[in-house]
Amino acid sequence: MSQNLDAYGHLIGGDRVPAASGATFDDVDPATAQPFASFALGDAHDVDRAVRAARAAQPAWGDGDVFDRGRILQRLGELLESHSGELAALEARDVGKPLREAKRDVSLAVRTWIYFAGWPTKIRGTTNPAERGVFSYSLREPLGVVGAITPWNFPLLIASWKLAPALACGNAVVHKPAEETPLSALRLAELALEAGVPAGVWNVVTGEADAGAALAAHDDVDKVSFTGSTEVGRKIQAAAAGNLKRLSLELGGKSANIVLEDADLELALQGALRATFRNQGEVCTAGGRLVAHERIVDELVERLAGEVSQIRLGAHDDPQAQMGPIVSARQRDHVLDLYEAAVGEGGRALVGGGAATVESAPDGYFVEPSIFVETTNDMRINREEIFGPAVAVIRVADADEAVRVANDTRYGLAAAVWTRDGARAHRIAKALRAGTVWVNMYGGLDPYAAYGGLGLSGYGYEQGPETIEEYTTLKTVRNAL
Ligand code: NAD
Repeated sequence: MSQNLDAYGHLIGGDRVPAASGATFDDVDPATAQPFASFALGDAHDVDRAVRAARAAQPAWGDGDVFDRGRILQRLGELLESHSGELAALEARDVGKPLREAKRDVSLAVRTWIYFAGWPTKIRGTTNPAERGVFSYSLREPLGVVGAITPWNFPLLIASWKLAPALACGNAVVHKPAEETPLSALRLAELALEAGVPAGVWNVVTGEADAGAALAAHDDVDKVSFTGSTEVGRKIQAAAAGNLKRLSLELGGKSANIVLEDADLELALQGALRATFRNQGEVCTAGGRLVAHERIVDELVERLAGEVSQIRLGAHDDPQAQMGPIVSARQRDHVLDLYEAAVGEGGRALVGGGAATVESAPDGYFVEPSIFVETTNDMRINREEIFGPAVAVIRVADADEAVRVANDTRYGLAAAVWTRDGARAHRIAKALRAGTVWVNMYGGLDPYAAYGGLGLSGYGYEQGPETIEEYTTLKTVRNAL
């Protein structure tokens, strides 16, 4: 057990409990490289205990009054809002992001809870055509126990994307947050108890890959909703085969941000900044490939370089900081490896290109916000997800080439196009192979529309009405009349 650190247990059946093994792991502040809290290190025993608690609690929740269920979720959204300062501070420290960005994440999580709070009273089945003498209808029912496995870049928000619809549909959940950022998951679950979610309906098992793997493989889990890397997504798909549990996999991306010659360059510049320099670039929909028309690319990149070279780095509590450290030493090394590869394969770092030192946080995992020019789409920097604050510029001769380059990836999460011509924008949006396409904007999702991916970006939807199908099953009843 670590000494002098805040210690947190799992939350199982409404109680804070240590790991069955007694083991713990430390949570490290990415701005200081020092541990600041210790958590129960979950294993298959703990996951099994949490699944049992969820299974026992689910029927009463799933068969309960739908008005009450919606009201509890509404109350949780309101509690999140009234605790937004506290939650943002937890999240900022844990991830390393500026407090301002963490506040925005919390407000998006509030919207998610309020949106899904409206659903329990609106989930419907169908009456079906049938032969004479038969009355047929289909009930839309909860799946049962849902496992949620989440990453470290938007811990509270992505947990909300999974847990809000899962609970709205009447399921019980076991949540395994990322080992880098478990803090907000436990606080969120505590607030859920306060809002009236019954003990056992929402369980949190903290831990590393082993705990996630045990949840993915558990025979009494009906569905796993996972957000994370493609590599782990594949392992989860294999582990889920045992009981053929349902899956939704929200995986990585390598999104293209296309700027055509008729774009409003000032807007496109702001969009390019948002595309890769928000949240330290640790965004699955980051527009890491800036695919720009040869007629405007030089001016755009020169102006972008002016902005990127001014980005101020600092710890989450530095009010001047525009960007924080990378979440962990491992992830920082991954970013630096791709920076090196970009130059090694023939690109040039126009801005940045290496590690950064910040005087007020000398041990933090900082990297330089970077722009790589003279890159081609076959380089590693344009094939692999960076999850860091960098953009690689790809010069194209026309819109057809831009679309070809954008679609030349095994991922299919997001893309954007900048043009003043509305019809052209719609044509290109249709031609792009991606789950989300932005036109004259970059980034931003809301709870009202489906969000998902293609190819190595995974499958299934989060947000929007389609999510209800992800967390329910249909039962057809045929009555002889
Ligand atoms: P990761 O895949 O390493 O880990 C994600 C989660 O899976 C963590 O909770 C981890 O403990 C768990 N895990 C690890 N190994 C496991 C296993 N074998 N079985 C079950 N669970 C396991 O990802 P990360 O490093 O936390 O996050 C970064 C990745 O997440 C990026 O690749 C990014 O693109 C992706 N991401 C995608 C979206 C999206 O919506 N598409 C959103 C955010 C992040």
